[in-house]
Amino acid sequence: MPLPPLTGHLEARRRLARSARAGTLPQVLLFTGPAGIGKQRLALWLGQLVLCEHQDEEPCGACRSCRLVAGLAHADVHWFVPISRPKAGDTDKQVDEAAEALAGIMEERRKRPLYTPADGMASHSIASVRLLQRRASLTSVEGGRRVFIIGEADRLVAQESSPEAANATLKLLEEPPAGALFVLTTLDPRRVLPTIRSRAAPVRLHRLSDAEVRGFLREQTDPRWSAEKIEERVALAGGSIGAALTEGEDAGKAYRSAEQLLAAVIEGPGPALERALGQPAFAARGDFAAMLDALADTLGEAARGAMGQPVRRSVPAPLLRHRSPAPLLLAMEKVNEAREMAAGNVNPQVLLAVLGEDLAEVL
Ligand SMILES: [Zn+2]
Repeated sequence: MPLPPLTGHLEARRRLARSARAGTLPQVLLFTGPAGIGKQRLALWLGQLVLCEHQDEEPCGACRSCRLVAGLAHADVHWFVPISRPKAGDTDKQVDEAAEALAGIMEERRKRPLYTPADGMASHSIASVRLLQRRASLTSVEGGRRVFIIGEADRLVAQESSPEAANATLKLLEEPPAGALFVLTTLDPRRVLPTIRSRAAPVRLHRLSDAEVRGFLREQTDPRWSAEKIEERVALAGGSIGAALTEGEDAGKAYRSAEQLLAAVIEGPGPALERALGQPAFAARGDFAAMLDALADTLGEAARGAMGQPVRRSVPAPLLRHRSPAPLLLAMEKVNEAREMAAGNVNPQVLLAVLGEDLAEVL
């Protein structure tokens, strides 16, 4: 089963295609943007584009190369995703184990192209990095370019225990082999090792429009979702196909937490605010970061409203009483500061308490 078609990101596609055709495409790219918007899918699209037999604005989708990439079967496209840490004792065996794990995941994705994100403990361990180096040192199988996609590059483990592996990775990205293209993806560039980040050309990607998410769900759900379910999910998805596809409890969880927090902050000091700030719900750092993203997004939406622009998603009504966007933009800044600190080692509970006070002051 081929991958579902790429949705949205038209401007980024145009820019990437233009530089690919002009021969100015950097050899190391870092795609950044929110979860579930198709960053790795866009990386595969780019792989298709540079390998396509017809050098056009878009990959033709029909030539042998395009079909192999879409079927995750092109010998020169290497897609690395986070995996569980290999258990073998011996280094070479660990690399083999990593190769098998990746092959297994690709096999799964061929069967079920709408995959779920890697679990929180998966990473790009030293074994994956050694495998990447091994593959990068080989020549092209098909005689054309080679494409290396490293999904969730923030999960590349810092390799203090193995300086030679770390140095080899840096050298690979600093002087990529001729014809090799590396595309790294991440939610947040600040979480990528600085030595790697500084070697990559950033490509910032954005949330999809509700219409794009809706279009995807109409075409790609199997069995087809009802119009009612689609509208429900689109409303909760915040421009992320991944969020729209998440079943049950998790759907819109980040947005609901963000709305509860905002409602409590607006209501002012009292039991609701204490409850909102005391919530122990953010067991995983990723959940906390997702809530902060949803918070910034909701405030941004309210700021649009305050500037008289149409609001694209539901926003707590009291936020819309602001006549000027200034306090909302200030609140967004506070959220972004907290977001930055959340990437470090600060306790989410402490951050949330401080953020709650800051927001109460400006809103
Ligand atoms: Zn093609």
